[in-house]
Amino acid sequence: MRESRLARPGYGLGRDRRAVVIGSGLAGLLAARVLLDHFDQVTILDRDRFPDAPEHRKGVPQSYHAHGLLLHGRDIIEQLFPDIDTELRAHGASPARDSVPLQVVCPFGPLPITPMPDEFIMYSRVLLEFLLRQRLTRDYPHLQVLPEVDALGLLTGAGGQVSGVRVRHRNGSGPDTLESDLVVDASGRGSKAPEWLATLGYGPVPEQSITSGIGYASRFYAKPEGFPRYWTGVVINGRSPHNRRAGLILDVERGQWHVTLGGFANAAPPLDETGFLQWARDLPDPTIYEAIRIARPLTPIRGFRTPTNRLRHFDRLPGWPTGFVVTGDAVCAFNPIYGQGMTVAATDALVLRTCLRHYAAGTEPGFERAFQRRLATNVAIPWFVASMEDLRWPGVEHHGTTPQLGTTMARRWIDLMLRAAVRNRHLADKYVDVIMMNAHPRVLFSPGVIARVLTVAVSGKIGIPSQEFALPDPALAALRDAPTPSSQPVSLVQRTP
Ligand SMILES: Cc1cc2nc3c(=O)[nH]c(=O)nc-3n(C[C@H](O)[C@H](O)[C@H](O)COP(=O)(O)OP(=O)(O)OC[C@H]3O[C@@H](n4cnc5c(N)ncnc54)[C@H](O)[C@@H]3O)c2cc1C
Repeated sequence: MRESRLARPGYGLGRDRRAVVIGSGLAGLLAARVLLDHFDQVTILDRDRFPDAPEHRKGVPQSYHAHGLLLHGRDIIEQLFPDIDTELRAHGASPARDSVPLQVVCPFGPLPITPMPDEFIMYSRVLLEFLLRQRLTRDYPHLQVLPEVDALGLLTGAGGQVSGVRVRHRNGSGPDTLESDLVVDASGRGSKAPEWLATLGYGPVPEQSITSGIGYASRFYAKPEGFPRYWTGVVINGRSPHNRRAGLILDVERGQWHVTLGGFANAAPPLDETGFLQWARDLPDPTIYEAIRIARPLTPIRGFRTPTNRLRHFDRLPGWPTGFVVTGDAVCAFNPIYGQGMTVAATDALVLRTCLRHYAAGTEPGFERAFQRRLATNVAIPWFVASMEDLRWPGVEHHGTTPQLGTTMARRWIDLMLRAAVRNRHLADKYVDVIMMNAHPRVLFSPGVIARVLTVAVSGKIGIPSQEFALPDPALAALRDAPTPSSQPVSLVQRTP
């Protein structure tokens, strides 16, 4: 029988148990949802003031850029917030049926993905985050949300355990400490957890990093009436070393398209009107260009340069304080081009739930270390997938990540598999299962997949796309004939650091 932390001074017995979550991004909201089942009081604090409507906020500048939520992440969110789809629809996310959720144009052409027969909706990160926050505050009276509060550091109790957070209220009023039994750091890429741990005598935290030099430029458009719904999103992938350009269009709520153009290896897309359109035009597939050419821009073009992608190995520290865990981007911040961050935040929340259940709501010793270790396992595959792709680019800076022979061979196989997948629906679907995190990447190396790749190879069709572009020819021709809207708004160019 493990020693119960309830028996130790400073923990729970005879009083309410409280958890504090630093940060109300996706990782913080999902972690809070899980904590609410185990704690008497949960507080989410954030340095931002929350908008009353689904709007962007300063603390998450990345929301101006298209956020695709992978199918696996969507399923977890639906599990944690039943019927969230209904609320998304009520806020304008319109359903599509018999369409491809995300049409993937790989470097060898569009993949012939099976359309989804069920209704499917796409929505923006801003709307999702707004509705999750609203649901939590509405449905859980034991949740407290504290806006405009900066977390400055950790408080410690007599036994060295973390006993709360040092805070600063931006409006100048309020206590400067928040006591709690568990502090969850979900403050994103800029998390100060390594510094806070160092102050307590733990560290340094081992890190792996890759500076992939990704630049984004994004804009919202009004989708033209009657636009064909063959897909609810299209992603066009670049590929080292020749094609540095990528693009993403998502059919989000209220008849809007969220369009992001990306450039690898320091080739950021331009932020002016003409340059933005030209970049889209030069993508290897014309679908995004033809769509936005006839669409009405709704917002200025915003830029973003993604800082270093980083995996922090909190799990490898020899010591760890009780009462503190770290989750989300604060642990692993991916190159966003692979669309993994929100889904990994969702899987992180499931890891938290498992550990809370296993360690008596986090009261038994070993809970925090078990959580960080399981989280490390949880992020290992997405990090491997992202770094395998990032390290293709010549000149990409990386630390603590050594490309292995196995990685090179895996990459060669994926390329061959994709060359076959542009001719084979089964292979295309398998690949999409993996990138949507619904299947382990090992399925791409299974005997069934190998046999199909060989069949396509033997037929002599390998690498020859079955369909030239992401939109079928008649739809593309119709778009090409459509007139460009006469008035384009003046571009208020903004680059977010
Ligand atoms: C350009 C870009 C595009 C992306 N595209 C995708 C995509 O297509 N699909 C996808 O799944 N993911 C994408 N991501 C990743 C995604 O945004 C994150 O992985 C996901 O939101 C989880 O992040 P998080 O909650 O850990 O951190 P964040 O979303 O960054 O939230 C951190 C929160 O903590 C608050 N905070 C920070 N410091 C403090 C402090 N000291 N005190 C109080 N509050 C604090 C901030 O205000 C913020 O609310 C993208 C990221 C970027 C940068």
